[in-house]
Amino acid sequence: MASPAQKSKGKTRQHYEIQGNRAVPKNQNCPKCGPGYILANHTDRVNCGKCGYTEYKKK
Ligand SMILES: [Zn+2]
Repeated sequence: MASPAQKSKGKTRQHYEIQGNRAVPKNQNCPKCGPGYILANHTDRVNCGKCGYTEYKKK
């Protein structure tokens, strides 16, 4: 069985990318489906594969 010590593994801050002087989230959670449903990252938008939610990135 998995030890409790491994439970915290994987919770890193690597989901943020530093652009200039601010941290930009690499992968957003879907606001409709909630945490655990990651929006797919496209060039100018993010998209949820479950509900189809699309959010356009601001420039
Ligand atoms: Zn969704």
